[in-house]
Amino acid sequence: MSNLVGIDLGTTYSAIARLDETGRPVIIDNSEGGNITPSIVLFESESNVIVGNIAMQNFGVDKNAFGRFKREMGTNKEYNAFNKTYNPTALSSFVLKKMKEDAEENIGKISDAVVTIPANFANEAREATLAAAKTAGMSVKNIINEPTAAALYYAYSSGDELNGTYAVYDLGGGTFDISIIKVQGSDIEVINSDGVSKLGGDDFDTKIIEIVQSKFKDQTNETLDEEDFTKNDAEEHKKTLSARDKTNVRIASPKGRATIEVTREEFENSISTLIAQSEMTCENVLDEANLSIDDINEVILVGGSTRMPCVRNSVEKIFKKKPKTFGNPDEAVALGAALFVAYKSDPANLTPLQQKAVAKVNISDVATKFFGTSILEWNEETNQHGMKNDIIIEKGKKLPCSVTKDYVTVSDGQTSINCTVNESNVEETDPDFVKKIWEGNLQLPDGRPAGQKVNVTFSYDENQTMKCSFHDVSSDKKTEIDLSVDNKSSKSEVNINDFKVE
Ligand code: AMP
Repeated sequence: MSNLVGIDLGTTYSAIARLDETGRPVIIDNSEGGNITPSIVLFESESNVIVGNIAMQNFGVDKNAFGRFKREMGTNKEYNAFNKTYNPTALSSFVLKKMKEDAEENIGKISDAVVTIPANFANEAREATLAAAKTAGMSVKNIINEPTAAALYYAYSSGDELNGTYAVYDLGGGTFDISIIKVQGSDIEVINSDGVSKLGGDDFDTKIIEIVQSKFKDQTNETLDEEDFTKNDAEEHKKTLSARDKTNVRIASPKGRATIEVTREEFENSISTLIAQSEMTCENVLDEANLSIDDINEVILVGGSTRMPCVRNSVEKIFKKKPKTFGNPDEAVALGAALFVAYKSDPANLTPLQQKAVAKVNISDVATKFFGTSILEWNEETNQHGMKNDIIIEKGKKLPCSVTKDYVTVSDGQTSINCTVNESNVEETDPDFVKKIWEGNLQLPDGRPAGQKVNVTFSYDENQTMKCSFHDVSSDKKTEIDLSVDNKSSKSEVNINDFKVE
């Protein structure tokens, strides 16, 4: 039998899971015996990398310890350690390598993995995640949206009893996602998904730091240094405030000593705009799906930050029903990914009981962004051509999908076409307000009149990565782009074999 694993590569913590021989999804503990591994990377030297708990102890204290890089996936953000530069993809590959090696100690060589990603991750962040897995030496054919994975685990845990429309509210360390899904037994259809890519526990930790810094200044007239009250410290106090009304922060720093009380009320006030942002996103996702709260059977909570009382209250206020947790919110996504990797694999790789566990699973997901291309369009008002972002794939379109639109060349003798792929969260026609994720050129033959047919095809697969083609019909010339292999910023520039990763 093959060893298949599902990995939740989280902003703050990561988890890895598999189906046991009986077909039950289970977490694979890391080498320290923990069910989750902090997504923190510490460079001990140029070639020695520590991932997890020890790295976490140094986060905020040692300048060679890095965390929260998932929030920067697909960007060119640089992290410097021992005179070398790393991008978020490279740092993620270290976390994945540690997860892989620890799991292999337990279960033997991993043959295939599925990695989860936030539903509203942009195309380049999805590709960066796939690239990180590849660098870590893993075969990853599929990625799955975190709320979809959680929904799958929820459907599995509930037996065949689920039937209706559910909201999956996923608030972890770095991102917030809300997905509306239709479930019938193990049949899961994602109807709509929205989110905020930078909203999560990490932002709440920052607010705790701000409160403590401000009170320290009031008490001592000194400015508190970052290393004297770190993100880790803030996170611990934040967790205390989920259980208690107040917490006492004791600071012993070179700038002075202080005991600072932070109340839950103060903390909740400080994050109220962030919570309001999540509430607006929930209302928006219902609107877009043409649903009212009465259409939602249940709200399912996923992600560590849903342990916060004010988050639960906010969900209850929006959906007018008590949200539901099931199992451990830190584990649900990885456990769902373990079901998904088995569902995607050849049944010959599964035990009969594992086959049974996923036999009835059927998942369909939707595009979580709009994708379009920039075209020249005649504007009746200005009496001239103007640029327009013409949407080709609508947000909410069922995946996989392939959409072709026909365009024509605009001028006589036109010898090239500027080809673009644009991404947006809303249905935006102005090219200045969308994100250009790719740009290229299609050369055309000389001497033709305007009005030559050009077909543009965008194909979007279940991994939510794109292939695009710009096709000049009469000459049969094409410019094709596979965005999952072309994106420069997503590439990891490390050779993982040059590093010892513990
Ligand atoms: P996840 O990405 O789902 O592992 O969620 C991690 C986030 O959940 C981190 O920001 C944690 O600080 C946060 N978290 C975990 N437990 C609690 C808790 N009891 N109260 C508040 N936040 C929590």
